[in-house]
Amino acid sequence: MGKRVYNFYAGPATLPVRALKEAKRELLDFYGTGMSVCEISHRAKEFQAVIDEATALLKEIYALPPHFHVLWLQGGASTQFFHVPWNLGLEGKPMAYVNTGSWASAAIKEARFFGEVKVVASSEDADFSYIPREFEVGPDASYLHITSNETIGGVEWIEFPDPGNVPLVVDASSDFLSHPIDWTRIGLLYAGAQKNLGPAGVTVVIARNDLVERARAKKLPTMVSYATHVDKGSMHNTPPCFAIYLSMLALRDLKEKGGLGYIEKLNKKKSKLLYRLIDGSNGFYKGVVRPDSRSRMNVTFRLPSEDLETACVAEAKARGLIGLKGHRSVGGMRASLYNAMPLKGVKALAALLREFQLANS
Ligand code: PMP
Repeated sequence: MGKRVYNFYAGPATLPVRALKEAKRELLDFYGTGMSVCEISHRAKEFQAVIDEATALLKEIYALPPHFHVLWLQGGASTQFFHVPWNLGLEGKPMAYVNTGSWASAAIKEARFFGEVKVVASSEDADFSYIPREFEVGPDASYLHITSNETIGGVEWIEFPDPGNVPLVVDASSDFLSHPIDWTRIGLLYAGAQKNLGPAGVTVVIARNDLVERARAKKLPTMVSYATHVDKGSMHNTPPCFAIYLSMLALRDLKEKGGLGYIEKLNKKKSKLLYRLIDGSNGFYKGVVRPDSRSRMNVTFRLPSEDLETACVAEAKARGLIGLKGHRSVGGMRASLYNAMPLKGVKALAALLREFQLANS
């Protein structure tokens, strides 16, 4: 393998090298079939073994209780923005959302096609720089939707809200598998794979049984209904075979490294390193998020000027630290520290930031 860069892109993002090497090794001849995993039938026993292992690993790593189903779907998290209200919205019961930024807003926009949406809390008043904590959902909501990590703004729910009997639905696209989850709080959780799990092309939905039954009762178009995908083991139609396969390899890697206990500790360490540096920079670097809402996955910060930000991104790139420009909608800088980003990469970034400050202040 040639020289690998440290990839801080927000997604598609860095993947475990071990998984990539394994995929490379098996690409021309998958388990003695004389074909790659992209070339065999999804009905072949070799592919069934892949999706079964991926599902079993995900259940084991997340310690999922048995009344949850794991689905491997397509269309990205953006498709879940309308599948969730279509499957779970109930007549006369508003769909509750917390608006924490770009991705929550996108989910809200889609839900409005399906009925009454109640935005029960929003941090728009402060440019989406915090996670709202005090709000009422009310017992009559169809569900409460949150975005556990705002990839663009860099705010994260470290502890999920407890809406009582109202099912909690979580868009966990950018902090999927980054820390353990209390499943007693969750009704449904979804995530595009391309940040913390595998390549783009597969979207994981983890759905509680009663919500699958709620969807079944609604008699929806076949591909929309969660019940179809549960009944058909995510194989009603051709699944994204390669993306599921690579996700399986990444899950093997995560399990071998120590699972969520290990990865949560590492993720805390990596993000702390950068936030400490930002806080200790005498205002040269400025975090854009309130400290109690800071994301461990996407560290967003600003420099004294846009010119300095451009220079810093260029200097980082010259050292093999890639993808640090903030999202085009908000500017600034953003370091995405997903599971597969090693501590060494974050240390290299911290060293660059220290030197850049010395040279430019
Ligand atoms: N939700 C969040 C939190 C995201 O970060 C993204 C993608 N960056 C999406 C949803 C949309 O995901 P996709 O591109 O898979 O549709």
